[in-house]
Amino acid sequence: MNAEKRLAHLLEAPDARDSALADLCRDLIADQQRLHHRLERISRISDRYQADLRATNAELTAANERLAAALREVRTLGGFIPICSCCKKVRDDAGYWDEVETYIARHSDAVLSRGRCPSCARRSDSGAPPPVRSSDGEDTAERGRLAAIEAEPAWTGHPLREAYVRLSGDYQKLSRRLHKMSRISDGFQTQMKELNLTLARVSRTDPLTGLANRRALIERLERQAAEAGAGQGFSVAMIDLDNFKRVNDSLGHAAGDIVLQALSGLLAARVPAAALVGRWGGEEFLIVMDHSAGPALLPWCEALRADIEHLSVDYNGRQLRVTASIGTAVHEPALSYEDTLRAADRALYAAKSCGRNRVVAFEEL
Ligand code: GH3
Ligand code: MG
Ligand code: MG
Repeated sequence: MNAEKRLAHLLEAPDARDSALADLCRDLIADQQRLHHRLERISRISDRYQADLRATNAELTAANERLAAALREVRTLGGFIPICSCCKKVRDDAGYWDEVETYIARHSDAVLSRGRCPSCARRSDSGAPPPVRSSDGEDTAERGRLAAIEAEPAWTGHPLREAYVRLSGDYQKLSRRLHKMSRISDGFQTQMKELNLTLARVSRTDPLTGLANRRALIERLERQAAEAGAGQGFSVAMIDLDNFKRVNDSLGHAAGDIVLQALSGLLAARVPAAALVGRWGGEEFLIVMDHSAGPALLPWCEALRADIEHLSVDYNGRQLRVTASIGTAVHEPALSYEDTLRAADRALYAAKSCGRNRVVAFEEL
């Protein structure tokens, strides 16, 4: 006869059936069944998290490899422009490049970390203890309660006492397993959240230039257009390199890539913190400028155009120069952001038609 059957038999025996210990045994059996159900549910959730984690990790690894390769390229090719984002001066002192390296290293650490966000990494490095889980205290109280029942002198020699001790041991084992599984499941959940955040960041970054990609720009435009009705205006500036095909045709695609990276470094350094600059596609870049925080659009774009004209990009000892045409448009709250982009595009087309290397505002056409 197995243990369950023997216990059922004992519980039905006339001398045990109505005793308080029998009631306690029945309670424990019911509790155990509840724990089993919870354990099954948590196992199923954990399995799902594990499968999701594997899939997200694979996606993230692929995205990270692309980004890391791009960052490596930027570093080895010296594609960053030594311009200070604060004083806006060209920096050529020896320490500058080390600072840039440090910045990239710090940035890639955040992007490439395996599951821990930088603030958690810092917390655990500082040796701070992990937060105490309230269930640890509950466990101790529960163990004490069961032990007290086992030690109760009134139950000595009771036919159910041995069964109760076994049940109580099984129950505690199950309870420990449940807590362990809950902790593992919580860990998976945290990792999933962190991975998804990292993936979201990587999926909004252009791998060649490290700037925001088209998806991130569209999200920003949608948000700005939604807020525009409440008086929060914005403008866009569409930047297109002039005769860029010639760079590729005469020096090769790699030279073109370096120019794109150099221009991105310049844009990232110049654009105000409240604006967003990104790669719209190919050799086209888009700036979304918040009216409440942005500088006067046209003079600012004119200064940017001049900076691009003076940019000198080193390619195997050759100094490459490029120019850009810029079309700007102010968003009208009654229109869609697509209308505003079309307006900027028309201004850009006009800039190209007028001889390139100039800024044209849609409103002045
Ligand atoms: P325009 O002044 O009229 O804009 O002339 P353009 O030559 O710049 O314009 P066009 O549209 O004819 O050519 C754009 C070129 O940009 C062609 C394409 O090879 C190049 N390009 C687009 N994306 C990349 C890239 O990621 N890397 C490199 N190296 N070239 C790119
Ligand atoms: Mg173009
Ligand atoms: Mg072009």
